[in-house]
Amino acid sequence: MTELTGERSLSPFLALYYSRVFPYDDFCGWLSYNRHVSFPNREFVFDCGIEGTHEHLSFSDAVALKNKLRRLRPDKIEVGAVFSAPPRHIGNLPVEKEFVLDIDLANYNHVRHCCAGNNEREVCHDCYKLLTLGMRIIDRSLRIEHGFNHILWVYHTRHMYAWVCDKKARYLPNSYRQELINRLQHSHFFRSMKAKGRSFNSGLLSESIQRALSDIRPRFQQILMQQNLFEDAPNKMSHLMCIMPNLTVGRDVHSLIRSLEGRDSCEKFTELTKMIRSKVEMGIPEWVNHSRLMDEILIWYAYPRMNQNVSISMCLPLIAPFTTKSNTGEIAIPIDIDWAKDMNPVNAPTIERVMEEVELAIRNGHEVEVDTCLKPFLKIFREFLTNLFNSNDQQEDLPNNINYQEPNVDPPSNNQPKSTDMRACHQQ
Ligand SMILES: [Zn+2]
Repeated sequence: MTELTGERSLSPFLALYYSRVFPYDDFCGWLSYNRHVSFPNREFVFDCGIEGTHEHLSFSDAVALKNKLRRLRPDKIEVGAVFSAPPRHIGNLPVEKEFVLDIDLANYNHVRHCCAGNNEREVCHDCYKLLTLGMRIIDRSLRIEHGFNHILWVYHTRHMYAWVCDKKARYLPNSYRQELINRLQHSHFFRSMKAKGRSFNSGLLSESIQRALSDIRPRFQQILMQQNLFEDAPNKMSHLMCIMPNLTVGRDVHSLIRSLEGRDSCEKFTELTKMIRSKVEMGIPEWVNHSRLMDEILIWYAYPRMNQNVSISMCLPLIAPFTTKSNTGEIAIPIDIDWAKDMNPVNAPTIERVMEEVELAIRNGHEVEVDTCLKPFLKIFREFLTNLFNSNDQQEDLPNNINYQEPNVDPPSNNQPKSTDMRACHQQ
């Protein structure tokens, strides 16, 4: 087996990968929405490592894309917006782009004590559970609260990306993308949690937060144990203390955890839950408004943390499914929400492994696609495309005005847009 030793070391594998494996027809069918969207106006960026980056690329069809990929053999392919003309034209304007979310384990260092910084792939079986929990929460929020139906989940190293492909998502202007990611991140809620003297009670936890809690509760004790979150260590306690609403509550919580030294985090969780109930029932003034403190702790630790910059701009090219990563060779894979939690991220497909399987299939005279570990992920991608193309989504006209309405959300931030003319997206 050839070792990956540095930049461009993927090159020998990439030649075969782009010749025999990359799913051009499905990939281009997706990005042209079965010919409802102009594929030649879609922007691509190829990262070729030390050989440079090729920006503002576009292709007439799948054959032209294949020819260029076979010649340049990029380590990474990024997909950008669809423009009003081929993207290399100066003064071109973006017309549409999927709304993309990026749940990133790099944002979980407050809760991720298992492998951060120790693992080349930067993810292990334990912290991967945080990603799949985040995936579940965001998927439900996008569907139930925001009415999206066509969400392609893509896993790549420490990231879980959601490509929201509904027509109404692709035409969202940047101002709405910003507002939508703020709402999905519950930015107002998290800012409030860190405010001293706050007094949340059950009535102020929005339905969206309550729904997230219903996903977190059955999974939290496993996370608590794997990450040993209630260990009386300075870094762990400082993170817990920063959401305590006042000094008395913080002191009582820390004293209890310290008194339980030697017990595991789940036992501390149980005792903490009992103490909160007891203090509230006793009517202690500093405690009386904090009956939901444990729920707030769950949200604080386990609510998905996303890279906002990925979501807010229509013009930002983003890593595409079935592309690779130069230092590990790991392939970005479409993933199914129902079995994502059962996948071991350490076994995610790499280009090395796929190429070994391809070479073996060729030697044995077998069909290449059937014999590689990418097969189940290609199936997921094709099922997603079938649902997308069979829906009426592409045929439906966009409204002249978007009325962005979300029921049961946290208190709105300032400058919240209520509606805007669709032409606004062409002016940004
Ligand atoms: Zn880990």
